[in-house]
Amino acid sequence: MLIDISDIISSGNTERALEVPVGLTSFESRLGKFPIIRKSPVELQIVNRENKSLLIHGEADLDVGIPCSRCLKEVVTGLRIPIDKELTIEASGVAGEEPEDTVYLEGSGLDTDRLVYGEILMNWPMKVLCREDCKGICRVCGADLNEGDCGCQRTVPDPRMASIQDIFNKFKEV
Ligand SMILES: [Zn+2]
Ligand SMILES: [Zn+2]
Repeated sequence: MLIDISDIISSGNTERALEVPVGLTSFESRLGKFPIIRKSPVELQIVNRENKSLLIHGEADLDVGIPCSRCLKEVVTGLRIPIDKELTIEASGVAGEEPEDTVYLEGSGLDTDRLVYGEILMNWPMKVLCREDCKGICRVCGADLNEGDCGCQRTVPDPRMASIQDIFNKFKEV
């Protein structure tokens, strides 16, 4: 959602509280596309501090379906992400320290979905497990090992060991 914040940018020591619905229905990144299963409106507090800086505070609260790192079953993962931005107000507009800091600003329009997207990306969980002791899937047949053992032989010998084994076998043959 694009929100006009020109009134806050132009008047010093003003403050505005906003409650903005999240427009995203899924989250797409290099890692894939993940459905957003539940989302709360983002509560944002925007403060103009003496016409010098713009503070954006808030929290994004949503549930995203992320595959388990071991068995790939979708896990409803709750993300509560604090939003904490400080931008500099300049004569030409609002600037961040890095160019990507302000991709969610279009002139004096604040694109809250872009802001939330960037925050999810930064806070993406490294590892998601359906349960602490998830056994994962069988490397041979793909069976879910949480539902029982499939009986496959999964201990693949080290290829270096295998070649040594070959040499031994050749000796035996002689
Ligand atoms: Zn799992
Ligand atoms: Zn198997």
